[in-house]
Amino acid sequence: MQRLFPSALCLVRTTELLLQRSSVRMASQWTGQEPLAQTDPEIKSIIQNEKQRQKLGLELIASENFCSRAVQECLGSCLTNKYSEGYPGQRYYGGNECIDEIERLCQKRALDAYGLSPDQWGVNVQPYSGSPANFAVYTGLLAPHDRIMGLDLPDGGHLTHGFMTGKKKVSATSKYFESMAYHVNPQTGLIDFEGLRKSAKDFLPRMIIAGTSAYSRVLDYARFRDICNEVGAYLMSDMAHISGLVATGVHPSPFEFSDVVTTTTHKTLRGPRSGIIFYRRGVKGQDKAGKDIMYDYERKINSAVFPGLQGGPHNHQIAAVAVALKVASTPEFKEYQLQVVSNARTLAKALADRGYNIVTGGTDVHLFVVDLRSKSVDGSLAEHILELISISVNKNTVPGDTGSALHPSGLRIGTPALTSRYMKDSDMGNIAGFIDEGIKIVAEVKGQLSKPNLTVKQFNAHLAKDEATQKKVSELRGKVEVFATQFPMPGFEDH
Ligand SMILES: *Cc1c(COP(=O)(O)O)cnc(C)c1O
Repeated sequence: MQRLFPSALCLVRTTELLLQRSSVRMASQWTGQEPLAQTDPEIKSIIQNEKQRQKLGLELIASENFCSRAVQECLGSCLTNKYSEGYPGQRYYGGNECIDEIERLCQKRALDAYGLSPDQWGVNVQPYSGSPANFAVYTGLLAPHDRIMGLDLPDGGHLTHGFMTGKKKVSATSKYFESMAYHVNPQTGLIDFEGLRKSAKDFLPRMIIAGTSAYSRVLDYARFRDICNEVGAYLMSDMAHISGLVATGVHPSPFEFSDVVTTTTHKTLRGPRSGIIFYRRGVKGQDKAGKDIMYDYERKINSAVFPGLQGGPHNHQIAAVAVALKVASTPEFKEYQLQVVSNARTLAKALADRGYNIVTGGTDVHLFVVDLRSKSVDGSLAEHILELISISVNKNTVPGDTGSALHPSGLRIGTPALTSRYMKDSDMGNIAGFIDEGIKIVAEVKGQLSKPNLTVKQFNAHLAKDEATQKKVSELRGKVEVFATQFPMPGFEDH
């Protein structure tokens, strides 16, 4: 009795305590309702500056894009609060009715976006990004130290496809699996399928990866499949860069030929940063007795994602991916992707007309690589000067490059982000002009100083003293910024 009914004195004390606490709460400085500007003006102001940078500049980094306001609303939503380890209908936490609905909708839209039947394909939308998606596939389908082959990073492949150098196993993929790269032909810049076939017959990989981060031509998935069949390897297609093009039929689809397809969702697909894995399911074929053989990827891949590599899914991202996939099935999105490719072609041609060499001579996709060797300016100097005039690109190796990884001889240029700002073919001439003017500034300084190996540091030291060049840089930057701000920024409330 004593314990259940506290004494009157005790009740009074408890009431006093509660009163004290609530007054503490009311007088407290922070309730969680304050806007960011109040809670953390420092971060708020850095974000404002980044917003300004995105608005004033020309974004030509091929892997970037501007996602919609709707996508950003999901990312900034209460969904980030929820734990939901497991899969829809089988969670390790309660309260997941809404989360299950979101994840199922996202899965359905992912299959729909690529015209896949749920009898033949399954999908996992939980990977936090493209790299974890790839690692989950390797973890699920391969044993430690099984062999894989991917396009070499300097040839346009991705780190996660097994990148290593002669000295160092750089990517975790090359540490936990045995990796051998295949290459592009250094003359043509095109994937050397015969070379891949020969190496595969010697190396006998368990998996071949068809996917690129800096390759301007369509991938011949049927050829990859043939080689996989010859050596008994899985074909994993990583369409991270081109998933928006594939969804709209602007690039051939890898699904018919692949065992597994992975993608990011924030590149041409224009969603939030996230990753998706598609895997075959259902009947694979018949054995000698005529009995069905089933694909066994579903359990292996799903359990590699969770509980193998990840914990709670990022539900705010999954909702945002669902929104991006909904948009991806509209006619406007197809128009957008066609414009992305058209802009890339027009920009490549405008640069070629100004004497720049384009690797493979042009592009079928959203990006191309400029070979600067004929311009005697390396990729890092070019990237640097363009950054000074508010143009974002990234330095990149070119086929047969002899420059180091930090000083490669090319630039990778992509048009998805500019096209999201509604830029058209008629705007590409101006952009080529700005790029050319910028690169000429560095070339001129290099000539004046007669330093064939001018570094970014030396250029900056010179620039700090050379007022005439400073003036040229700031005038050009002004022109770029005036040009860029004419175009709206999707996703920004004050565009
Ligand atoms: C960008 C990219 C990835 C990795 O994506 P992250 O989200 O940066 O981890 C994987 N594969 C390819 C081919 C890519 O281009």
